[in-house]
Amino acid sequence: MYNTKPLPFSEDLEGISKKTIEQHHDKLYVGYVNKSNEIREKLVVLRESGNFEGNATFSELRALKDAETFAVNGVYLHEWYFDLLGGNGDWQKAPNLVKLIEEKWGSMEKGIAYFSACAMAARGWSILAWDMKYGKIKHYNSDIHNQAVWGCVPLITLDVYEHAYFMDYGTDKKGYIQAFWKNMNWEAAEMLLNKVSGITL
Ligand code: FE
Repeated sequence: MYNTKPLPFSEDLEGISKKTIEQHHDKLYVGYVNKSNEIREKLVVLRESGNFEGNATFSELRALKDAETFAVNGVYLHEWYFDLLGGNGDWQKAPNLVKLIEEKWGSMEKGIAYFSACAMAARGWSILAWDMKYGKIKHYNSDIHNQAVWGCVPLITLDVYEHAYFMDYGTDKKGYIQAFWKNMNWEAAEMLLNKVSGITL
């Protein structure tokens, strides 16, 4: 059972409207939670029926397994994203993460500029992850929910699908990305890093 996580903030964001956040969280994100549960229930019924066929061209099992990763990634990625909003953009609250970004890209300004350019180049998600295989932070883009690198925990997750900004910014994706950094809760990213940075596989 997947449960809907409430937004971690109640106040209005700077540059991202209440309407955008409400539609994004209450409709789109909740929709992914509901579909994840629906798919899970259908998989249980199918498995228990014993009447499933693993055909890779088309089968009910294939359709459900395909939809499952899309829907569950839709839940998790949005939770990573919303959990980072509601802050004031002050990265001093994330000393360990700042150190890693500075080591990798030279300065915070350069790291943020590079991430922002990657986000401009993405059609879905832009993510700074702790890569457990690599043993370091690593940036990845994902055009769809399923374009993931296994072994990564997202630390900074930015939704750049049009639904995240079109109501507020139209085609000005750059303006939305700038607003994201202003509202970023760096403490939340630091907490994630501190939980996972010791893990290398
Ligand atoms: Fe989204």
